[in-house]
Amino acid sequence: MRQAGRHFLQIPGPTNVPDRILRAMDMPTMDHRSPAFGLLGKRVLDGAKSIFKCAGPVFIYPASGTGAWEAALVNTLSPGDHVLMYETGHFASLWKAMAVRLGLDPEFVQGDWRAGLDAAAIEARLRDDKAHSIKAVCVVHNETSTGCTSRIDEIRKAIDAAGHPALLMVDTISSLGSIDFRHDEWGVDVTVGGSQKGLMLPPGLSFNAVSEKALRASKNAKLTRSFWSWDEMATANEKGYFPYTPATNLLYGLAEAIDMMHEEGLDNVFARHARHSEATRRAVHAWNLEVFCKNPRQFSNSLTAVLMPEGQSADGFRRVVAETFDMSLGNGLSKIADKVFRIGHLGDFNDLMLAGTLSGVEMGLDVAGIPHKKGGAAAALSYLAEDASEKRNRRSEAA
Ligand SMILES: *Cc1c(COP(=O)(O)O)cnc(C)c1O
Repeated sequence: MRQAGRHFLQIPGPTNVPDRILRAMDMPTMDHRSPAFGLLGKRVLDGAKSIFKCAGPVFIYPASGTGAWEAALVNTLSPGDHVLMYETGHFASLWKAMAVRLGLDPEFVQGDWRAGLDAAAIEARLRDDKAHSIKAVCVVHNETSTGCTSRIDEIRKAIDAAGHPALLMVDTISSLGSIDFRHDEWGVDVTVGGSQKGLMLPPGLSFNAVSEKALRASKNAKLTRSFWSWDEMATANEKGYFPYTPATNLLYGLAEAIDMMHEEGLDNVFARHARHSEATRRAVHAWNLEVFCKNPRQFSNSLTAVLMPEGQSADGFRRVVAETFDMSLGNGLSKIADKVFRIGHLGDFNDLMLAGTLSGVEMGLDVAGIPHKKGGAAAALSYLAEDASEKRNRRSEAA
């Protein structure tokens, strides 16, 4: 049956694609060896650097984020290499499983999923590694399965404090364009990104931002690679081209997305995400439900995972919301399946979209018969209105 009105896509990626980006991609397929393509290629390859905050190359793959995970590992490491990974949640676990399949020897620091990285634990492990057998530290910036964000600057400091030469690789698939990230300033060697979350694009592009140190490591890395090879990319990218057919129409979208983020201002983009995240947590508390992330310093600005009351099915609740209000919420993954649902508040998103989202959750709690208190959406709206009027007052005082 036809559902009237707009579907609410409130999973933490893929996210809503703004009309402006859809229009930018609505172009005839182009010749990817033509002079016009070279200009587009240059524009996105340069523009991407301003989003990763790096001076070195950003390689762009026609692949989902998983491809860029693989590219990061196979370009820098050799069979049997020992790498340190950290169990922040489902995505960190998948990256680790990939490392095993690729013939690496990952050591997985255990985490309890309700918090992000513990920099002290990483520092202690690196201090112990006197022989420097650990070749890379691979971590997830924003763990999309749990809604915990880690401080990558602190991980850099931990590695430096231990005097350890390992490469630092960071998955920013659900933080880039939503939560501040600084590839160069934080001394990250390979940053992994994807198109369909904070960058507001459809799925299909992924990224490696690469440091000089990582480029040097790639010269001696022995893992087999072909499609993902940085060498081939770097040579073609010099003139704005790619070694194989790029996802041309997505690149039009990427150019538009980069422009849009700079028009708003990256700091304003990050502040907007922080504000919607705060409003969402106020709603969750007012419902008398629990935010899954336990460490307030690590609350994610791009999504909130909500713990269901004991004995209630998160997937049953999500089904009610989808069927009744045409809204998709994120599911709990692997060991927290059916125990949490996730509200995505990232990408192209504003106050009224959040108001609709939280209203849908609150009505869904009613319809599904989940024990809760009323007034969560109202609590979020009060916060948003107070915050907006403070900002207006400050602006008029300044004027
Ligand atoms: C979405 C996501 C991935 C997986 O990306 P795909 O595009 O689905 O391959 C990996 N890591 C994190 C943190 C994610 O949010």
